[in-house]
Amino acid sequence: MAHVNTLAYAQDLDALDPLRAFRDEFHLPQHEGREVIYFTGNSLGLQPKAAADALKQELDDWARLGVEGHFHAKHPWYAYHEELTASSARLVGAKEEEVVVMNQLTSNLHFLLVSFYRPKGKRVKILTEKRPFPSDTYAFASQIAFHGLDPATCLVEVQPRAGEHTLRPEDIIGRINELGDELALVCFGAVNFLTGQAFDIKGITAAAHAVGAFAGFDLAHAAGNLHLKLHDDGPDFACWCSYKYLNSGPGGVAGAFVHQRHLGTDLPRFAGWWGHDKKERFKMERDFKPMPTAEAWQVSNAPVLPMAVHRVALEQFDRAGIDRLRAKSVELTGYLRWIIQGISEENAGMFNIITPKEAAMSGAQLSILVRGDGRGIFERLTARGVFCDWREPDVLRMAPVPMYNSFEDVWRFGQALRAAIAG
Ligand SMILES: *Cc1c(COP(=O)(O)O)cnc(C)c1O
Repeated sequence: MAHVNTLAYAQDLDALDPLRAFRDEFHLPQHEGREVIYFTGNSLGLQPKAAADALKQELDDWARLGVEGHFHAKHPWYAYHEELTASSARLVGAKEEEVVVMNQLTSNLHFLLVSFYRPKGKRVKILTEKRPFPSDTYAFASQIAFHGLDPATCLVEVQPRAGEHTLRPEDIIGRINELGDELALVCFGAVNFLTGQAFDIKGITAAAHAVGAFAGFDLAHAAGNLHLKLHDDGPDFACWCSYKYLNSGPGGVAGAFVHQRHLGTDLPRFAGWWGHDKKERFKMERDFKPMPTAEAWQVSNAPVLPMAVHRVALEQFDRAGIDRLRAKSVELTGYLRWIIQGISEENAGMFNIITPKEAAMSGAQLSILVRGDGRGIFERLTARGVFCDWREPDVLRMAPVPMYNSFEDVWRFGQALRAAIAG
């Protein structure tokens, strides 16, 4: 697409954006009396203005009702998580019985690994992408060790080819086939946190299943970013956090998906009272009777305060629609890519955008290898009220978020980047 590098052009694109009004529903941090350029929504999404009232509702109901709030609050606490199910299912392309909002991300990953990483005989390995988010590596390695196995041999990462930064889909499938019956589980981040590369959930799942392994995905950087179709694509499980693209606040409550084919089966799991058949939960009986849904994986009662924030954030996704968000995201990130490419060409090719260009292999985030004083550029951007993210030794990450970022943000970012290079 032929773009133009002017403010007027960016403002024209904003005027045509059917989602432009959503920006006013968020608090934007200020820098020297002006809104910052916030490109870190992949790290911590902005606060929906409606969050404060939603929290206050629960605090007021607690003050007014005490324990009775479990059944008589405006949104009864007893079943609070159920109010999040339909929106969450829409967001990840699942059936309602396949999703549950609970705990936090790494905790959910552990609970799901209990069910879906069950090494047996020579089938002991977990295959993941090169450099998954550290918490995922810690979870995989500790689960492997928990089974009395050695993470050094049982945790395998698919490596990029020499001189490349991202993974070729055929190399992922090739590695799965190579490991074959040694593979217990393939577990990828659906979007890698460092490179922004999005992986083919359907293709990886099919390849894993073909060799008799389970397939799971960490959607931390994919939920609210990509157009997901978990039920149809068929992975066995997935989990995600809500504070990145889902704007539900620091440490917000997380989500989990278990494919329908596993519901009501006798998969082993770590149980707690909130996973017990809800009709009989308060009979407090001795034997665990699991829910026939993903709720069977719940252990504890619902954390209502973070869920109140998540409820209003999900409601925004329902109104915006992931189709429209994704369509805008492809345009917005495409414009950013074009602007950065232009600046790189003016500066002897100092930037190498490592995030794949194909829409099927990327989301909102761009990751850029910087030649030269990348850290200095990052610091000067920050000093100018531009929020992006620096990963040592040489990666600058930025995510224009379709829910609240504008084409004008992208254009202004380009101006700031030029100035930051100049010093
Ligand atoms: C952000 C992120 C996490 C963080 O996990 P928490 O348990 O929510 O602290 C884990 N994994 C991935 C892939 C992430 O991007």
